[in-house]
Amino acid sequence: MAKKQRPPRTPMPEQDPKVRARNFDEVPLGYTPEMAQREASRCLKCKKPACRKGCPVEVFIPDFIAEIEAGNFQRAVDILKKKNSLPAVCGRVCPQENQCEAYCIVGKKSEPVAIGRLERFAADWERAQGDVKIPEIPPKTGKRVAVVGSGPAGLTVAGDLVLKGHDVTVFEALHKPGGVLVYGIPEFRLPKAIVQAEVDYLKKLGVKVVTNFVVGKMRTVEELIQEDGFDAVFVGAGAGLPKFMGIPGENLNGVYSANEYLTRSNLMKAYRFPEYDTPIVRAKRVAILGGGNVAMDAARTALRLGAERSIIVYRRGRDEMPARAEEIHHAEEEGVEFQLLTNPVRVIGDDNGWVRALECIRMELGEPDESGRRRPVPVEGSEFELDVDAVVVAIGNAPNPLIPSTTPAIQTSRWGTIQADEATGATTMVGVYAGGDVVTGAATVILAMGAGRKAADAIHDYLTKGG
Ligand SMILES: Cc1cc2nc3c(=O)[nH]c(=O)nc-3n(C[C@H](O)[C@H](O)[C@H](O)COP(=O)(O)OP(=O)(O)OC[C@H]3O[C@@H](n4cnc5c(N)ncnc54)[C@H](O)[C@@H]3O)c2cc1C
Ligand code: SF4
Repeated sequence: MAKKQRPPRTPMPEQDPKVRARNFDEVPLGYTPEMAQREASRCLKCKKPACRKGCPVEVFIPDFIAEIEAGNFQRAVDILKKKNSLPAVCGRVCPQENQCEAYCIVGKKSEPVAIGRLERFAADWERAQGDVKIPEIPPKTGKRVAVVGSGPAGLTVAGDLVLKGHDVTVFEALHKPGGVLVYGIPEFRLPKAIVQAEVDYLKKLGVKVVTNFVVGKMRTVEELIQEDGFDAVFVGAGAGLPKFMGIPGENLNGVYSANEYLTRSNLMKAYRFPEYDTPIVRAKRVAILGGGNVAMDAARTALRLGAERSIIVYRRGRDEMPARAEEIHHAEEEGVEFQLLTNPVRVIGDDNGWVRALECIRMELGEPDESGRRRPVPVEGSEFELDVDAVVVAIGNAPNPLIPSTTPAIQTSRWGTIQADEATGATTMVGVYAGGDVVTGAATVILAMGAGRKAADAIHDYLTKGG
């Protein structure tokens, strides 16, 4: 008998592109309970769920989906939280299309089950009840752990270790905890209230969060252990050091790193002008250099800050862009322009030292390079000027060298990332562990969380069994 065709994926309502391109409210609006149950009914509840193979933290996917279908939403959340402490975040920003959903059996014949949207639904449902359950905390072990950085890696370590009875203090350099989740990813993709709710939850579990505290300046990692009495340290300091193109004119006024541009908008709330008077150039024509998620976020932010034209300049083609397909699609819908197969060669200034234009050259794709992607080659004589008054460089980030440079016992790679054991996060310094972007270089939220989980298990063993 022919297999029954699965019904199509349940669409998620979204703000109209024309309206949302000028506001910072969240773009996808989330499922109603009925929509979530309908989507959950598309799942086959496979005995050997292929989807789990694609999840870096191995969420019990068919189990939580079955509970949603049955209308047991709290049970769905409980199952999710066994493996993922930040489901409302992951349901919004994880690249599910390359992870769990890429393996979903339903996806072989039709569109895969919308696992990420269901995850988001369950987490949002719990928050809307206003009563997030606090699990039982085991008796105190008396051991103290310092966590450097409050991004997804640090928050995961903190949550896991406090639930194992240890005393945890998170030190964060910025004035708000959350890492890239608060300073990088814009409000229209990840509302800051959600990150704040996750941090508040950790505080309720007993985690201490100290902000405006730069480890390496105020205290070194060694001092935390030798003088402040911490028994172990986890370094989850991320990769916040922007890379630049190294082209002439990059020091002109109006050239930003994507990190600075997004931090001014998100964390320092430039988008809520005049309520917050954060300085940021209100440019009319903005060029964004790069083709990843960070570039899409900056381009969409530029529109919302009032730009008439927001132009992505990327040296390869659309198929080679590293950004999530959904982000490219959202950017296109909102009116972001794409100058593909185009490389910037020089930023041109006016007499007052402000950006006036960007000189670019057209590219064509040659043979594949070491990354497996076809190498972009300049087309001779194809230089042209793009009329812009701001440039945002979004070509990648590296870890800040502050911690390794003040902690010589921690070894780094030639890319400046901290060397840590893949299975445990152990660094070359006894009692010090690391994970997330500071080890891998710029990666994803879920990989940072996966690394945090492994390190938390290893730290627990170190504290209770001596490693
Ligand atoms: C704009 C943008 C968009 C992104 N979009 C996505 C996406 O859609 N999906 C996805 O999966 N990933 C995305 N990413 C990547 C993802 O956010 C990162 O991979 C992830 O946040 C890494 O987590 P982390 O905990 O290692 O570091 P981070 O999130 O970078 O957190 C590190 C924290 O450590 C703090 N810190 C650094 N040094 C010190 C110090 N010396 N003392 C105290 N604190 C310190 C920093 O201030 C920061 O708060 C995006 C990244 C950016 C920049
Ligand atoms: S593979 Fe797809 S259908 Fe099977 S359990 Fe996972 S989500 Fe459901």
